[in-house]
Amino acid sequence: MRSKENFLVFGSPDIGQPEIDEVVASMKAGWLGTGPKVARFEADMMAYKGISNAIALNSCTAALHLAMIAVGIEPGDEVITTPLTFCATVNAIIHAGGVPVLADVDPFTMNISIKEVEAKITSKTRAIVPVHFGGRSCEMFLLREIVKKYRLKMVEDCAHAIETEYHGQKAGSFGDLSAFSFYVTKNVVTGEGGMILTDNEEYACRLKVLALHGMSCDAWRRFSDEGYRHYLVTEAGYKYNMMDIQAAIGIHQLARVEENWNRRQQIWQIYNKALADTSLILPAAEEPDTRHAYHLYTILIDEEKTGVSRDEFLNRMNQKNIGTGVHYLSIPEHPYYQQRFGWKPQDTPNAMRIGRQTVSLPISAKLDDEDIYDVISAVTDIIN
Ligand SMILES: *Cc1c(COP(=O)(O)O)cnc(C)c1O
Repeated sequence: MRSKENFLVFGSPDIGQPEIDEVVASMKAGWLGTGPKVARFEADMMAYKGISNAIALNSCTAALHLAMIAVGIEPGDEVITTPLTFCATVNAIIHAGGVPVLADVDPFTMNISIKEVEAKITSKTRAIVPVHFGGRSCEMFLLREIVKKYRLKMVEDCAHAIETEYHGQKAGSFGDLSAFSFYVTKNVVTGEGGMILTDNEEYACRLKVLALHGMSCDAWRRFSDEGYRHYLVTEAGYKYNMMDIQAAIGIHQLARVEENWNRRQQIWQIYNKALADTSLILPAAEEPDTRHAYHLYTILIDEEKTGVSRDEFLNRMNQKNIGTGVHYLSIPEHPYYQQRFGWKPQDTPNAMRIGRQTVSLPISAKLDDEDIYDVISAVTDIIN
């Protein structure tokens, strides 16, 4: 049994000595803001994903916001996304002036349903924002066909999907732009942080401008020692750039991305095996020829089968000093969206049910074997 002092924090990051040393080196060098380490982190991400432009930012929320502006979302434009996502996906659409439209998820994969997407397309639809939920790739070939057929833009929310692949192609390379998160609980962390990747040079240049006050593309050279340059503001931009201190962490996190993925795959398989004969509903098997990023291990608690409600389960896990997550209460459960758009959870019933039954178990690469068995015995204890 875990002691109080030994609370297992959900999504706690695996920080190694190289990250610590690199941050200390940045502090000693005195170069804290955007600089050479950001450039290196961008280059490393481009190499890892095989995409030719990267703009490091201070969050994935910022990345999604700028992506919406870059693809030209204007007031009244409709953007289709999933109701089973973090609120930032939807808020980014709203901040760009767009109208979010929710297409329900597939009940097994928990990813946006292609049929539902097509049913939601109108003459005002401009873009689709698929989320590779939990690290499982959406059906990218079918989404790409829809995008082509209706002349839409696609922005992939890759917050869970650094390692994700679909038929040999990396997640983030299917859309016009893709947004990544390096928030503390994600697979690669910088504390707070995000990035946009794109193969489109024009988008990349505009995004750099937008990310730094709207100062002309060249202004980023301000962060080098090439001598003084005037900056010229060419549009009203934002303050979304990443710091070198953040990139210092990210560089070494990314270097261990595969090692950590291997560990999470192991944990995933241990959970699958240990929980197979319980009344829980476990994550769907992976689709052939895809690579799952194993970001979230989501179990579903159907009270009629488990004898305990989801919320009671969360409380009891907490009492056993094990942190869990809920990904996510469906977007229409939140009052803001109900009031603004008149949405009801019942409108997207699959996402509603998942949101009310789901629990994410800890799957950080930092967990040791004892942690994993503590989680398993806590879970089986509660549902038996
Ligand atoms: C975490 C997350 C975001 C936001 O990422 P931040 O870096 O915290 O802004 C967006 N979308 C999804 C699906 C996420 O999980």
